[in-house]
Amino acid sequence: MPRYYLAWAKDERIREKGANGGFVTATLVSALETGFIDAALVVEKKSVYEGIPVLTSNPEVVKECAGSLHGAPINLTKYVVDYGAKKRIGLPTKPCDARGIIEQAKRRQVNLDNIVMIGLNCGGTLHPLRMREMAADFFGFDPDAVVKEEIKEGKICLVSKEEGMGEKEKWVKIDALEQKGYGRRDACKSCVTKIPTSADLACGNWGSNDTQKTFVEVLTEKGEAILKNAIESGYVEIEEAPGEGIEKRKQIEAGMQRLAEDWKERMDEVSALSRSERLEFYVDALKNCIGCGACKEVCPVCACEAGAKCLDMNDARDSYVVSMYNMLRIFHLMDSCIGCGECEDVCPVDIPLTLIHRRFSERMQRHLGYTPGMDVKERPPLYETELRWSAEE
Ligand SMILES: Cc1cc2nc3c(=O)[nH]c(=O)nc-3n(C[C@H](O)[C@H](O)[C@H](O)COP(=O)(O)OP(=O)(O)OC[C@H]3O[C@@H](n4cnc5c(N)ncnc54)[C@H](O)[C@@H]3O)c2cc1C
Repeated sequence: MPRYYLAWAKDERIREKGANGGFVTATLVSALETGFIDAALVVEKKSVYEGIPVLTSNPEVVKECAGSLHGAPINLTKYVVDYGAKKRIGLPTKPCDARGIIEQAKRRQVNLDNIVMIGLNCGGTLHPLRMREMAADFFGFDPDAVVKEEIKEGKICLVSKEEGMGEKEKWVKIDALEQKGYGRRDACKSCVTKIPTSADLACGNWGSNDTQKTFVEVLTEKGEAILKNAIESGYVEIEEAPGEGIEKRKQIEAGMQRLAEDWKERMDEVSALSRSERLEFYVDALKNCIGCGACKEVCPVCACEAGAKCLDMNDARDSYVVSMYNMLRIFHLMDSCIGCGECEDVCPVDIPLTLIHRRFSERMQRHLGYTPGMDVKERPPLYETELRWSAEE
């Protein structure tokens, strides 16, 4: 079987509602209806600014959740861990979702044999609150009147519908927004994993000239099997991807990665500081921590056993200005942080956790030659236990 395809849903309604032809939705629906998976984990639109994860065995719910939500910066890993390992689950995975799941599999928290990851390329997500501010400040729209959002060719589009005014559509360059501190989340701006190569399939619009055809890369045997299942059960059609599409996708990915490296430098205000100023920066940022533990709860790579002593919140209330909790988390995550920024999103006192973790983890990961979440066979440094889930557990 060739590795690259253009693919689309045969059902017209799924094709219309889907982001690029509804291939992902149709594949999950067919997998549910044929018993290939027991449940699907998808993202339900709550508003233009917000989406929430939904675990379902109902194909109609999966159809309702078609489409890409850029204002849903959730990571689905913890939901997969919570679901357990006994049943088969299929889900769309941005690169950070796939990387989180791979790290959890290495730490024996999920059984990868029961998970099918339908990867989504990702240029980035937007924080829902920043997105509302952006709608007002940059687009001149009432945030509550925005009915649609889209990202295409380096621009963000918002469509607003105000009473008696009809529909208004505006496109703004992402770069212009980001120069002013709006646009994608910091974690996404600096993320270099744009194509989820650790998933079973990687789907996106890069490389496809047709807005109703998804460009699909087959990455594993499981990916090939779910694709075959979708075709044979009559839900999906495919054609081989043209060579120029494959090349274009590669070029866009490389361009986005260069931009991410550039952002990393631009956003790293700490690099220019002296040693003592740097210490001051960390202390100033971390001393505000109220010890709520939200960053640990949401972290897709945290795999502490329940009650693990090192991160017990009561023990963390020590007499240092910067709590041991933060210091332990920084060290604990240095080999495994995937830079998804979920911790910063939920921090009630706005600690710049994306930057702080990146400064420590990137250096350490480079030093150890380890990139978390990419290769399931690669052992995390200093990790002794057997890799992966075993059926006897
Ligand atoms: C935040 C985001 C950014 C993206 N950026 C790019 C890009 O820059 N370049 C590119 O080539 N492709 C990108 N994609 C992928 C693209 O938008 C389509 O999802 C992909 O082409 C599949 O299209 P489809 O019609 O087959 O998907 P659909 O059939 O519409 O299925 C999409 C699935 O994704 C789920 N979903 C929606 N929002 C999210 C979310 N935030 N996180 C996880 N799952 C979600 C939906 O519930 C649905 O199950 C992005 C997707 C997302 C979610």
